[in-house]
Amino acid sequence: MVCKGVSVYEGKAKIVFKTDDRHRLLIEFKDDATAFDGVKKDRLPDKGILNNRLSAIFFRLLEENGIETHFIESVSDREMLVKALEIIPVEVVVRNIAAGSIAKRLGLEEGVKLNRTVLEFSLKDDALHDPMINHYHIYALDLATAEEMAEIEKTALAINAILIPYLEAKGIKLVDFKLEFGRYQGRVILGDEISPDTCRFWDSSSGEKLDKDRFRRDLGGVVDAYREVLRRLEN
Ligand code: UDP
Repeated sequence: MVCKGVSVYEGKAKIVFKTDDRHRLLIEFKDDATAFDGVKKDRLPDKGILNNRLSAIFFRLLEENGIETHFIESVSDREMLVKALEIIPVEVVVRNIAAGSIAKRLGLEEGVKLNRTVLEFSLKDDALHDPMINHYHIYALDLATAEEMAEIEKTALAINAILIPYLEAKGIKLVDFKLEFGRYQGRVILGDEISPDTCRFWDSSSGEKLDKDRFRRDLGGVVDAYREVLRRLEN
């Protein structure tokens, strides 16, 4: 039994609670959706339940493939127990196909396959709108060490190599996704979530978007798309 304590952090889509064990936290996935720096907001009933289930599936898959994550266990329909990490304030985006900000920034047509996987880093800071940074910034600001960055990059690429074929077998193209890492007992391990809120998933045959872009672009059927991803992963 986990004893839920006070909340230590509330983000746009999740609330983090203390537990009676200082090495463990409880994450609650909310139904709130935000986009464009919080300018667009809505409540999408059941989104939190779906993201909790989907993240648990992805974290278990990664653990089975030798990637350490913060995931311990699901404890309710919208809560998971995790290891308490010291979060490294660098968001890591992994891209296989051009979409979203890279398409805009570099003038690429959405859907163009990148010749190799692209990693991008952003400072995790809402007030500054998560500016993109490079290794020089990361070391100059002491956000992570060179050893930690080497581990983060190797792990991000390994995660991509696990997820691509797994999703392809479910008829889903992995366009891009965002990861966050943290320190735990001297190691750097995967934290945060892996869900359609933080990934771009396209149906392999129709190209239909099965992720948060449905919300960002007012395409409708957001929760139905998340449910469809869950249905495919559970089959
Ligand atoms: N992403 C995220 N949180 C962020 C920014 C991006 O989870 O704060 C994810 C996003 O869902 C997509 C990938 O990272 O799967 C790349 O996003 P992009 O840079 O294209 O940004 P966006 O389209 O959100 O402006």
